[in-house]
Amino acid sequence: MVLKGVLLDMGGVVLEMAGARGFPIERLDWRGREALLRLIRAEGGKLSRDDLEKLLFTPWRLDYQRRVEMGREAAWEPHLKRLRRAAGITTPDLQLLEAWFRPYGERLQPISGAAEAMDRLCAAGLKLALVSNVPLPGALYEQVLRRHDLLESFESRRFSYDCDTRKPSPALLRTALEDLGFDRQESVMVGDRRDRDIGAGRAAGVATVWIRSETGDGPDADAEIGSLAELPTLLRSWTDG
Ligand SMILES: [Mg+2]
Repeated sequence: MVLKGVLLDMGGVVLEMAGARGFPIERLDWRGREALLRLIRAEGGKLSRDDLEKLLFTPWRLDYQRRVEMGREAAWEPHLKRLRRAAGITTPDLQLLEAWFRPYGERLQPISGAAEAMDRLCAAGLKLALVSNVPLPGALYEQVLRRHDLLESFESRRFSYDCDTRKPSPALLRTALEDLGFDRQESVMVGDRRDRDIGAGRAAGVATVWIRSETGDGPDADAEIGSLAELPTLLRSWTDG
């Protein structure tokens, strides 16, 4: 097999997501909301915690619960617009979301051994793309990857929120392959969810590697490994054999 491109899922593969959902929960959600209220005040607006819940988070969460059937992420725009109108501010979407996200983003850590594995893959001449389902703009996660020196390894980064499509649809993977300029026969998808990552990989017609996890059922992958650290050796055996 001639292998050129490696498509990597993010959560559970490259980054430890502190809860599988990819957005702030519990204490980090609370701290993020406090930061968001401070920003709104600094911008000349005035809202209470209850206002935030009613204007932004409750309506967004209803959309979020429907995202799987919608086949895309729940948009923040209409809810942020409502929030801005009530607060009388003009702060851009990304700046508002960043205030809420930051305490959570600062907690996200690389998976042990992932950076070294990515270096080995690049050194072997492979090109890497990130294909990730996320509920917020990709720019927020790119900041996290940059802080951990992981961003530049990816020649293509495709986030579901920005691309308006989620895995298991193969659309994110196909776009990433176009970015890399590789055919599906030259590429492999690596992820920790069989339903989404392996499902999307098979639908896109690429080889698949499942990183074993507790995330339930889905299609079988071509191979299984315990973590990304095992990927360079596995892929070498594919290309040598
Ligand atoms: Mg994942």
